[in-house]
Parts: sequence; C-alpha cells; structure tokens
Amino acid sequence: MVGFTSPLRQVLGGKTAAALEKGLGLETVGDLLRHYPRRYAERGELTDLADVRVGEEVTVLAEIRRVNLRRLRQQGRSLLEVVLGDGRRTLTLTFFNQAWRERDLRVGRRGLFAGKVTAFKDVRQLNSPNYHLLGDGGDGEAIEEFASALIPVYPATAGLPSWTIGKCVRLVLDIVEPPPDPLPEPLRSRHRLVGLASALRDVHRPPDRSALRTAIHRLKWDEALTLQVALAQRRLAAAAHPAVPRPGRAGGLVTAFDAALPFTLTGGQRKVGSTLAIELAGEHPMHRLLQGDVGSGKTVCALRAMLQVVDAGGQAVLLAPTEVLAAQHARSLAELLGPLGRAGELDGAEQATRVALLTGSLPAPVRRQALADVASGAAGIVVGTHALLQEGVEFADLGLVVVDEQHRFGVEQRDALRSKAVAPPHVLVMTATPIPRTVAMTVYGDLEVSALRELPGGRSPIATTVVPAAEKPAWLDRAWQRLREEVEADHQAYVVCPRIGGDTTGEDEVSDQDSPLQTDEEDLSAPPRPPLAVLEVAPLLAEGPLAGLRLAILHGRLSAEEKDATMRDFAAGSIDVLVATTVVEVGVDVPNATVMVLLDADRFGVSQLHQLRGRVGRGSAPGLCLLVTDVEPGTGARRRLDAVASTVDGFELARLDLEQRREGQVLGEAQSGRSSFRLLSLLRDEEMIMQARKEATEIVSADPQLRRHPVLAAALAEFVGEEGAQYLEKG
Ligand code: ADP
Ligand code: MG
Repeated sequence: MVGFTSPLRQVLGGKTAAALEKGLGLETVGDLLRHYPRRYAERGELTDLADVRVGEEVTVLAEIRRVNLRRLRQQGRSLLEVVLGDGRRTLTLTFFNQAWRERDLRVGRRGLFAGKVTAFKDVRQLNSPNYHLLGDGGDGEAIEEFASALIPVYPATAGLPSWTIGKCVRLVLDIVEPPPDPLPEPLRSRHRLVGLASALRDVHRPPDRSALRTAIHRLKWDEALTLQVALAQRRLAAAAHPAVPRPGRAGGLVTAFDAALPFTLTGGQRKVGSTLAIELAGEHPMHRLLQGDVGSGKTVCALRAMLQVVDAGGQAVLLAPTEVLAAQHARSLAELLGPLGRAGELDGAEQATRVALLTGSLPAPVRRQALADVASGAAGIVVGTHALLQEGVEFADLGLVVVDEQHRFGVEQRDALRSKAVAPPHVLVMTATPIPRTVAMTVYGDLEVSALRELPGGRSPIATTVVPAAEKPAWLDRAWQRLREEVEADHQAYVVCPRIGGDTTGEDEVSDQDSPLQTDEEDLSAPPRPPLAVLEVAPLLAEGPLAGLRLAILHGRLSAEEKDATMRDFAAGSIDVLVATTVVEVGVDVPNATVMVLLDADRFGVSQLHQLRGRVGRGSAPGLCLLVTDVEPGTGARRRLDAVASTVDGFELARLDLEQRREGQVLGEAQSGRSSFRLLSLLRDEEMIMQARKEATEIVSADPQLRRHPVLAAALAEFVGEEGAQYLEKG
C-alpha cells in the first residue's frame, strides 16, 4: 500500500527517486504531491518568448520555425541550430554533434523545451535543451500526458525536466491511497472546499481552469489554516503567562497628562488608548503591535500607556534602536510630560515621576544616578537602546516594555526582557513601517495589531517630486536652489546619501532588509557605479551648490557623542543642512526641517523612502522631498520612485514594497530563496487568511493540543519543523 508517507524509492525507480531527492528535496509521496506546478501551459497557446530571461531555467511551449545544420570546420563536427518562435520573438536551440536530432526537430512541430537561457551575441539560446515534442500521434504516452488542455509546468532542475516530474506525479497519483484530510469536515463544508484527494488530483492534472481554481483554493486553505493554528497556539501559550495587572487610576498621571495636553487626541488615538488601558489591566501580558505612519501620534499613545503603569505602581521602559533615538525619545517624553516628569525638582508636579535615559555613552556619574533611579523605582519611565536589556540593569518593578521599531528587535531581546521581571511585562511594539495586516500577523507572530491611520490635524503635507538628474540636469540645479530658499526662510534641510564613503569596503548603510529587490532588468545591465556617499558629496556641496550654508555630516561610523552633538546642534538650528546616511531614518524629530534631498533615491526601498521623508514637514510649514535619481523612466526602479511621489499613504506603499519583493524575504532571511508558502500569498489571500485565523482560533481554544485533529496536528508539526519555526520565532 502506498500512502503519503511512503518513500518515493518504494514507488519510483531508485535513480529517479534519488534525483528527486537531490534536485528538489522530495523524499516521500506526500512531498512529491505537494510539489505543485508553477504554472500551466495552454495546449493551444505558445509561451510568450518575450518573458524568457537570460540566466533563468525555463520551460517553454513553442513551435519550431527554422532548422539549420552546419558542418563545422573541424572534421566530423556539427552544430544544429533550431529556432523557436511564438509569432513575434524567437529563441534558439543549439545542439553540438547531435545531427541526428534533425529527424525529430522539424519545422512546424510544437513541443516543450527546457533549459537554462544563455546569450550569445545578443541571441538568447538554450544549449542542448531537454525537449518533449507534442502531437506525435505514434507516442501513446505523449497523448495521455497532454490529453488535457492544461499542461502543468513544474519547478524543475537541470537533470529533471518538468515533464519527467509530471510523469512521476501521475504514476504516484494512480496508486496512492486517498490521504487523510487535515481540514475538519465542518470547516470544509462551511467554506465549500473540496477534499484533499480531489484537490491534489486536479492541481496536477486539471481537467479545466475551473477545477484548477477550486483545487488551488482548497490547497491554499491548508497553508492558511496550518499557519494560523501555529499562531493561535502561540497566542494561547503567551496568554497563559501571568502578568501583573496595571489598571488605570482615577486622578492619576494619565488624567493629569490628558488635562495638560495642548491638543485633543484623535479618534484613532482614543480607540487605541482604550484598548491598551484594558489590556494593561489584564492578568495576562499584553502583546500588541501599534502601526502608524511617522507623526501619526504613536508616541503619545505609548506615553499614556506608560503613565497608566506608573499610576499602578510599576515602571515602563522605552527601547529605541539607536542611542541618538533613545536620547531624542527621552527629550520628547520629558517635553510632553512637562512638570509631570520632573519629580523631585522645584517645579515638579505633586504626583510627578521621572524619566531616566540609560545609554552606553553616558558619563559614569550620570549613569550611576540613572541606574540607581531605575533600581529604586524613582524613575517611572526609562529610555534606552535595545542593548539595555543585556546590560544587567535592575528595575524596581518593570511592568511595560515599549519597543520602537520592531524590525530591529528579535526574540532574544524579548526573552531577556522576560527575565527582568517577576512576571513577564506587557509589551507594546511601535512601528512606523506599516505593513498589511496579514503580513503583520504572520511576521510578528503572536502580537495583536492596532493601527493609527489618520494624521493629527495641523500637520502639513509632504510634497514629493522625482528629479531625473541624468535626463534633466536643470532640475537638479533647481533642487539645490529650492533647498537654499528653504534655508533663507530660516528652515533646515537634509541631504541623504545611500553610503558613508571614505572606505574601501564599499559599506552600504542601506540595510539589506530595506534595499529594493534587484529586478531582472537591473541584473542585465552593466554593474552600476557605487552609490553616492556622504563623505564624498558633502565637500562637493559645500564648495558648489550649497556654498555658504552651514553643513554638517551624520553617519553610522561617528561615535555616539559626535552623533549626539551634531543632532543637538541641528535641533538647535546652528546647522542648516545635515548631509547624512539613513541614520536619520527613524524618529529624528526636528520640526524646523522642511526639505529633504535624497540622492540616488533608487537605492532605497519604498518603505525606507517613506520613512525618510517623514523627517520633514513635522512642523507647521509644508515639507518637500526631492528624489534624485539617474535611473531611466519605465524601469522598475523608476516606477517605485514615482509611486512614492504619488502617495503619502504608508499602508499603500508598504503593500507596493511587499509586492516587489519575494514574500520569503519579508518572512525572514532564514528562508532566503524559498517562500514558506507554496500557493498562499499573504497579500492577495488576505481574506482567506482572516477566515482561517477565525477558524484556527476556534479550533485551538476548544482543543489546544489538537487531540481531536490528528491529521491537522501532523501537518502542523511538519510546517513548524520545516520552515515555520524560524519566523514564528521572530514574534
Ligand atoms: P509618532 O510617534 O507616530 O511618529 P508622535 O506621537 O511623535 O508620532 O506625534 C507626532 C507629533 O504630533 C508630535 O509633535 C505630537 O506632539 C503631535 N501630536 C500627537 N498627537 C496629536 C494630536 N492628537 N493632535 C495634534 N498633535 C498631535
Ligand atoms: Mg514618535
């Protein structure tokens, strides 16, 4: 009997089984049946050869247009050239010393041709490709194979062409026992899903498009449900931890803070506020992600949550990714708090608390005092970098951890946090890089998600323009002129470059995570010049277009003191133009800065550009962002820039950003090159994922160990063991 778990070598020849294992990692019958076709060729339709790119492994359905056998000068050698066509484009096949193939490869015949595309003098070629001719008539196998109009094309490797894989799949399908179904019957009927056996049959041998759609829909559900069950179990486990409830207190700091606020909270802030207030008062730790564009008012929400914890007798810590940001957060929290943050000082309010800044670069006596305040509980609010958690800092009673920018914060830090308190603290993660809900839920694992979608009133819009420096040099001149005008109007400016420079390593400050995906068109072009660098650009600007302005530089290789001093001078207005790398990306808040010029803007990712431009227009004057680029119109890179210029909706841009990368990259580097899902798309299948989340929550809350769902439990074990674990851990 052949089942899902039977080894392939029991069913197929040993050689084929070995090739499937070596080439594609497929070991069992189930592995092979879950190796779904990448796409389907239409029997009557030829592959569009325009899509065939150099360097790719392709399988094309094409027609032979010309055949030419050449005798080479060397005795007995020959070159057979076969030109395939789709009506517009051609692709050339070459065979050395295989003249006999001329008999089969005749003009007018169609077939599948597979191989790696190379280029020879600008002609795209497949050298000695595998092929499978259609419509032979004499070949019974071929007729059977292509009886359907839809020909599955499998992800293949060099030794294993698509049709060989297809043949193995058919063989296995014919003899395998119907597999047990991981999806519970009631769920299947609620969502009108076909059974697993029929879905697998139809995905491999679709009788028609509609059956194929039904099959794929069902198989995506397998992935969506498994994912959501894994997440639901994690949420349940996290919720089982005890936490110290930190309920609000009438007449406490929160009340006093709200009364002193110079503005009214937006509807979104109020809604998030009440969610946080309730969760902080709960007996299990809060795990919440707060997304919102730069300036949407997250910090205010976080501060109110921190004050509630202080009101309840605990402490809150705010963690930032860099020292510059930590220092800035401490300043802005102190500012927002006013007398409420100056306990023990002359003008401190009666119930005031204290904000302690703890960074590595503090002078020893200051640091000692801060540590003492944290340990005694005198400092209700502590601000530091993520490193703070590894430094053995003792808290009197840590109740809430607020993390700014989760994408630089891993699970190890979270564990370090847990060990800081008697009971795990509540956790609030803030991110200004909004991502679609389904992705957030997946990437951030067990976090619940809230969003602030509106900007507080009175904020000025940011106008963004693409400056094509190569095509229109005059625009670049105009850009520098605009910057000068802003400075003349007593405003300040940023010039941002992708690189620091002055080094031999070519170190790039655009983080890997955010750098745009190389598209194929870019792959084909000559190696690009190195991106512009702060250390090279700054002197040129100082002597050229920005002569006479007060320039300073800021980048990651400066010491913490240098960075901090520069930021202070910039904030104080004694610097006009900051020439910087992406160190200004997050949180830097100088409301008087109104213009940002991004050089080689195409070197930054969409979300990063959006983040960067959030640095300007933070005051009441309108902000201007100029995206300078040399890339040509019509390229993917240029379209990305145009998109950034066309909208300020961070959520829309986040979606665009994700669409342009492979989802595997989003889910974590650990899986580079391989998305965790074979069919499911976190972007396109949002609705299904939400439904699966609901189902999964119900299944898991009724049956946490999945005792009544053994097949689902087995699928889950495989998912988590195989590839899910790494990114589930990222939560
Ligand atoms: P974020 O942390 O999301 O970037 P902040 O909380 O720092 O946003 O808020 C950005 C600016 O807007 C701050 O100067 C803050 O004081 C101000 N702000 C926050 N909420 C409001 C509001 N409801 N009305 C007016 N201004 C607000
Ligand atoms: Mg903020």
